[in-house]
Amino acid sequence: MGWSLQRRTTNAPHRLLVFQRRTQHLAAKIAITEHGHDNLDIVYCDTGSEHPDGLRILAAAEEWFNHPITIVRSEKYVDTWDVWTRRKFITGMHGAPCTVELKKKPRFAYERPDDLQVFGYTADANDVKRASRFVEQNPGITTSFPLIDAGLTRSDCLAMFERNVGPLQEMYRLGYPNNNCIPCPHGGLGYFNMIRRDFPEAFDRMARLEREFGHALHREADGAPIWLDELDPTRGDIRTEPDFNCSLMCALAEDVTA
Ligand code: SF4
Repeated sequence: MGWSLQRRTTNAPHRLLVFQRRTQHLAAKIAITEHGHDNLDIVYCDTGSEHPDGLRILAAAEEWFNHPITIVRSEKYVDTWDVWTRRKFITGMHGAPCTVELKKKPRFAYERPDDLQVFGYTADANDVKRASRFVEQNPGITTSFPLIDAGLTRSDCLAMFERNVGPLQEMYRLGYPNNNCIPCPHGGLGYFNMIRRDFPEAFDRMARLEREFGHALHREADGAPIWLDELDPTRGDIRTEPDFNCSLMCALAEDVTA
């Protein structure tokens, strides 16, 4: 395994791929095939709060790529709980401080203006729209979208992921739509009922934080708070709740679409 907080030492132009979604595994593989290993950094933002099964995926991906994955982390916070408790804030109308502290800042500290940034947007219509919006709204970033160029859809990518990297992360196998931190405050009522079932300690800890900060993550239509420690176990259905993937790409897109 080549994980490290390494810094690049050469001044040659670099390709940078930030590695957070499953589809990015294939984007990385294509980037390596097209451009070789030199001056390519595959970077993973470690929030300290994702399911530990992610380490298995990183190891398998490194083997498939035959290329090290660089892990970047916050120098200030160890995980999401650390952010929320020290900032005394979980999430609000303008987003969650964990995204900023654990994903954006470590990436911005690592990237360079001359990076060609390789993204894992797929050829699915919604992803193509996101990619073109990203390009329009980030004229200063040089981008590459190998999956779109190759016409590869999300389902193509997931099939290749399972063939080459291995079984999906435990979170997907448990039925979650993403591999976000446990728990992610952006999840809905159905998501939190699943978290209570699968990760009861994390659920209880979040419920206590809500009370400590006097801020419920969810509200009724009339604005009344729905406290996690009072959440009806039958409420919500993750299959019909909005997607709340929090990759760095999403964080960047949120910046420019807010
Ligand atoms: S996945 Fe959720 S908890 Fe993790 S950094 Fe993003 S918003 Fe925060």
